[in-house]
Amino acid sequence: MRVDIDWLVDRYGLFEQRVRTWMERWCRPYCSACPHVCCRAHFCIETRQSAFLASVAGRFSPRSDFSHLRGWIGQGGCTLVAGRPPVCYEFVCRPIIDDVAGDFLRHHALLVATMVMTHVGKRVIGGRHLVEATQTKDLNRIKAEPFLARLDAAEAAFDLATDLLEGRPLHENNDLLIRIVPPPRKNKKT
Ligand code: SF4
Ligand code: SF4
Repeated sequence: MRVDIDWLVDRYGLFEQRVRTWMERWCRPYCSACPHVCCRAHFCIETRQSAFLASVAGRFSPRSDFSHLRGWIGQGGCTLVAGRPPVCYEFVCRPIIDDVAGDFLRHHALLVATMVMTHVGKRVIGGRHLVEATQTKDLNRIKAEPFLARLDAAEAAFDLATDLLEGRPLHENNDLLIRIVPPPRKNKKT
């Protein structure tokens, strides 16, 4: 399949915006009162090191300024609406996990929501993750078919995970979640 990088960037960025919006809303009760905000400039730098993430950030967040001291952090938090390193979605702190850890399925669903962006980029450039494409020429080596398959799986799992977390009626099976991340161990809080 011929690689249309602009289209892949758009698909990825649009999905990331959905994930970011939901994660920010879900975490807001905790993060808005947090004295130890977990953003760090050394995480931010990955967006500049990855040719793909830099393209997403340029397309969706053209006015964001990077500073070596503060990364992408502005007065109101992260200024990137898309193009954030996937690791930025992976971390949610203990109080956020603890609030769902008593419900096995919702716990799994939250883990999935944190991992969907990481899932999309796995092994799409040889054995490398999307964020490891550090040079512009690497973009032409992205394998579109696995990229789109992982994106479809991530979108389906994210929809199911957010339905579960928000208590909406479900019609799908939970195998979608397992494709993104294994379930948490029963009777053990992470
Ligand atoms: S995820 Fe946790 S540690 Fe990070 S800003 Fe939110 S409340 Fe604070
Ligand atoms: S969320 Fe934004 S500001 Fe925070 S570490 Fe990630 S890229 Fe940097």
